[in-house]
Amino acid sequence: MIKRLLLVLLASAASASAQTTAFGTKATANATVPVETAATAPATKGVSKAVEEEVDNSVVITPFRSLTPPEAKTTRTFQLSKVNKLGFTETTKELQRLYSAFATQRIIDGSPAGSSKATGYLATVNYALVQDLGDNRFLAKAAWPASGPNEVLAAGADTMAILLLEKPAKVGDTGKLTGMHVGTVALLFTANYPPLTGKRLTIRREAFVECATLENSPAGLQKFVEAINAGAEMSATTDEQFPCKKCGGFGQIREQQKGSLTDKLTPCTECIKGKVIVSVETKFVP
Ligand SMILES: [Zn+2]
Repeated sequence: MIKRLLLVLLASAASASAQTTAFGTKATANATVPVETAATAPATKGVSKAVEEEVDNSVVITPFRSLTPPEAKTTRTFQLSKVNKLGFTETTKELQRLYSAFATQRIIDGSPAGSSKATGYLATVNYALVQDLGDNRFLAKAAWPASGPNEVLAAGADTMAILLLEKPAKVGDTGKLTGMHVGTVALLFTANYPPLTGKRLTIRREAFVECATLENSPAGLQKFVEAINAGAEMSATTDEQFPCKKCGGFGQIREQQKGSLTDKLTPCTECIKGKVIVSVETKFVP
């Protein structure tokens, strides 16, 4: 009980400075009940003295580098009433593609609308749990693909990460989850895995919160279309390829050489093989 109390107090102190991240919000929610118990406990002074003589097993998680929220460079409109009409780019296939992106960018969070936009990049994370940090938080060996425009969230391969799971789990468990990246956090803890067992240390790691995305199904798409026709404001952000303006899609810059019949060619620094990837937000209208 004593250790639990200290852990909860530290967790809530840490989350107070991290309320903007999903990690912090979650920690606060988990800590609510024990903190109330703490307030009614009479001998607070004696408690902290006793704890000092024990091994410090507290866990402190603080934001180290905040996430870069998904941000679109340009916007465009997708008009539902134009779908499959001659002379317009709106097609059933394009709608399906954009809805798939929309479905993976929204997480189900119990809001009145039944979903809300994710504030971080979503990734499929494969993991093996290494240490239990309490409150469904785990240190894990994980792997995930790069995501976001121009791979803002770099891929992880056999990388230590911090996961906040939806359900209790135990060390050694392996699995796959849809995780929302919530930035890099500093974790102060006492390691209990070899070769670091018993060492008190701080490590900085990527952090993910397990979440559920909207269902990417024909029924989900139909609901989505109905919602837009009823006036809901929806948008999806996708990476689109455009021909490079600087080199005209050639991929190389051509320069005339004095006294030479051949031009000098230098690779264009603004594109990859003549293409630039631009993050585009598509807004849906009836
Ligand atoms: Zn170029």
